[in-house]
Amino acid sequence: AKRTGRARYVVFDPAMRSQVSNSVALENDLRDALAQREMSVVYQPLVDLPGYGLAGMEALVRWHHPVRGAVSPVDFIPLAESCGLIAALGQFVLQEACQAFEKMQRVLGPEAPPSVSVNLSRAQLREPGLVDAVRDALRLANMEPFQLVLEVTESLAAQDALVQSTLQDLRAMGIALSLDDFGTGYSSLACLHELPVHSVKIDRSFVNLLDKSEYHRVLIEATLRVAATLKLGTVAEGIETEAQALQMAAMGCQKAQGYWIAKPLPVNELVSWIQARAI
Ligand code: C2E
Ligand code: CA
Ligand code: CA
Ligand code: CA
Repeated sequence: AKRTGRARYVVFDPAMRSQVSNSVALENDLRDALAQREMSVVYQPLVDLPGYGLAGMEALVRWHHPVRGAVSPVDFIPLAESCGLIAALGQFVLQEACQAFEKMQRVLGPEAPPSVSVNLSRAQLREPGLVDAVRDALRLANMEPFQLVLEVTESLAAQDALVQSTLQDLRAMGIALSLDDFGTGYSSLACLHELPVHSVKIDRSFVNLLDKSEYHRVLIEATLRVAATLKLGTVAEGIETEAQALQMAAMGCQKAQGYWIAKPLPVNELVSWIQARAI
């Protein structure tokens, strides 16, 4: 039988029709992907500024489709949300990330990343089992709550009472919350003090424009100043050049992440990367 749900559109033209059947097919594949072990998690290091000491790592999910090859999380996370698979997928990423963290502690000892960050979408924060899933993942990996950072986007911040209470529960457990993609949504500097987060990640679209747009540079400076006043940590994402790292450091940003430092890597490759730079 044909699946319905999100794909119940009126089809206007052939291009749209193929797009719709495409996403229905992808949705069906997604159902099997976790069981078929097509999903994996890679880790991108975060470093301190200005010294580049290891400051953490962010878990990023990957889907290697047997026919299509790599499918971007930008495409399949929304799909997982619309077809009820996001809780299972999120739990997989959480458990993988916590296990990778434990493994790195074991292998690297004091050289291991001090924390692992995991992304949570809005739909995940509305899942009733989330807080328990987080607690289970921590316990399975013998982790302390402060060793986990949960990254949430600013669009989900205000208004929603369910999301707010989940964020408060996670905070009360001692887990750090980071506001992802800052600068891209509708909330702003003016609302930063209302959000229950410990740190702010400046979106890479801003970092990209740092040396091309005066407006973006000033906005980053203002963000860093407000964050410092509120005693929030600051991370610049999407650092692709040394110049960007130096500029962010000069403006007082505390941490950096991006291809110039390292691409997201499978856990074993990140271990080697850390060992190689410790020499
Ligand atoms: P994000 O959380 O903002 O993650 C940063 C994205 O930027 C990642 O893309 C990363 O690979 C990429 N990136 C890192 N450094 C650079 C750089 O220097 N230059 C450029 N151009 N890109 C860089 P990725 O892994 O494709 O993930 C895209 C988005 O998908 C993430 O954006 C996040 O919103 C979502 N996502 C990824 N993994 C998960 C997950 O496990 N759960 C949830 N809920 N969302 C996830
Ligand atoms: Ca993120
Ligand atoms: Ca981000
Ligand atoms: Ca982003």
